[in-house]
Amino acid sequence: MKVHDGMYTGGRWTPAAGDDTIAVVNPADERVIAHVPAGTAEDVDAAVRAARAALPGWAATPPAGRAALIAALRDRLAARTDEIAATVTAELGAPEQFARQVHVGLPVAVAGSYAELAAGHPFEERIGNSTVLHEPVGVVGAITPWNYPLHQIVAKVAPALAAGCTVVLKPAEDTPLTARLFAEAVHEAGLPAGVFNLVTGLGPVAGQALAAHEGVDLVSFTGSTAVGRRIGATAGGAVKRVALELGGKSANVILPSADLAKAVAVGVANVMSNAGQTCSAWTRMLVHTDRYEEAVELAKAAVAKYPVGERVGPLVSARQRDRVRGYIEQGVAEGARLVAGGAGAPLERGYYVAPTVFADVTPEMTIAQEEIFGPVLSLLRYEDEEDALRIANGTVYGLAGAVWAGDEAEAVAFARRLETGQVDINGGRFNPLAPFGGYKQSGVGRELGPHGLAEYLQTKSLQF
Ligand code: NAP
Ligand code: MG
Repeated sequence: MKVHDGMYTGGRWTPAAGDDTIAVVNPADERVIAHVPAGTAEDVDAAVRAARAALPGWAATPPAGRAALIAALRDRLAARTDEIAATVTAELGAPEQFARQVHVGLPVAVAGSYAELAAGHPFEERIGNSTVLHEPVGVVGAITPWNYPLHQIVAKVAPALAAGCTVVLKPAEDTPLTARLFAEAVHEAGLPAGVFNLVTGLGPVAGQALAAHEGVDLVSFTGSTAVGRRIGATAGGAVKRVALELGGKSANVILPSADLAKAVAVGVANVMSNAGQTCSAWTRMLVHTDRYEEAVELAKAAVAKYPVGERVGPLVSARQRDRVRGYIEQGVAEGARLVAGGAGAPLERGYYVAPTVFADVTPEMTIAQEEIFGPVLSLLRYEDEEDALRIANGTVYGLAGAVWAGDEAEAVAFARRLETGQVDINGGRFNPLAPFGGYKQSGVGRELGPHGLAEYLQTKSLQF
């Protein structure tokens, strides 16, 4: 077990102001693997001051110079793939292959995309008799969740750095070790002192202090809608920019003309990946009533290919496991039909939940409305296309989704009517440059690609 005692501020590891620590637990065996400092408002203040001091120099660094350092950061992350993947496995529970390919591979690609975007971005444009300058917003307070520990960090830090902003990061208490490796990579890449700062700690203490700090110009938060709402209110009160990436309850709409077997198989894989701890997961599968029972059988067969403890890891914490089990019990209590899985413990040790499929789920049920954040799929039936649309749009969320049809144009026509930020057409693959973010209560703002970079810029118009 490792005991870490530092925060990364102003370009070096410095002892935390207080003595409190956070125990990091391996969710696969429930053992404590490390302790990190629980930061206080004092640590946050020191980090924000370091970020502020570094801002003028970083903002004035030519984009090509910033791009070169982001590329160096990408290279350092890639060089440490084994160590980062093993750390994600240890603190989140992600299966090894998924940890390498997705938990490390994706953020390395995103960091690379921002090295390119920083170099090529039009930071000046001409509109009529004006020159419009796109300038960095300033100091960014980034608050991230544990579900994709490195990706969530890179999706905020890389575009902020590309824009010329400096950053203070408060990562999730459950996955601080990956965040520490990220800080080490920043250091090795040679970023100037204070451009990136890390404060580990608890949300209501360090997170709250960061969101409320006067020296922070933009708060970028990813996590639950409940916390996001508070952060939005705090930021609004201070007239501060805010970006919120919140929950989802995305619909996977299988139209009658679709290849049902393929749509169901890909849909099940989508939900089981990362043990269902994905904000954009297609947790509601919508199937026409005529093919509904066939889809239930296909889903049941497909989920059998996801053995718990192998392709499906544990949930991140006992708290999340209990929460997910609670939802499964509620699904049964509200009359949904359990087709696979259930609330019982599938293994003796570890925070595992069995891959679970519910049929006969109706739109008003709790499991059809609330984000479960576990390996739980609900199959809903619809009578016709209008019914499918009503059900798909019938939650407070709107983050992602999928549409399957025999004909691409038919799927696109349906997708245009969905109230959601992303839709995959007939299994279209993830695009790390496409804007990612929510309609309705799934959030405010967009991450990734050029749209993600624009979030960290503000404009100044010069008239001639
Ligand atoms: P959460 O509490 O919203 O955590 C997200 C981040 O916010 C963490 O760094 C957290 O710190 C911090 N935080 C918590 N309270 C805060 C406050 N008052 N002020 C400032 N920052 C604060 O999410 P969670 O409790 O880990 O997960 C609960 C549910 O949220 C999940 O079941 C899921 O439905 C949803 N969720 C969504 C996403 C997503 O990607 N959209 C990701 C994770 C979770 P701590 O780590 O110390 O709590
Ligand atoms: Mg929390």
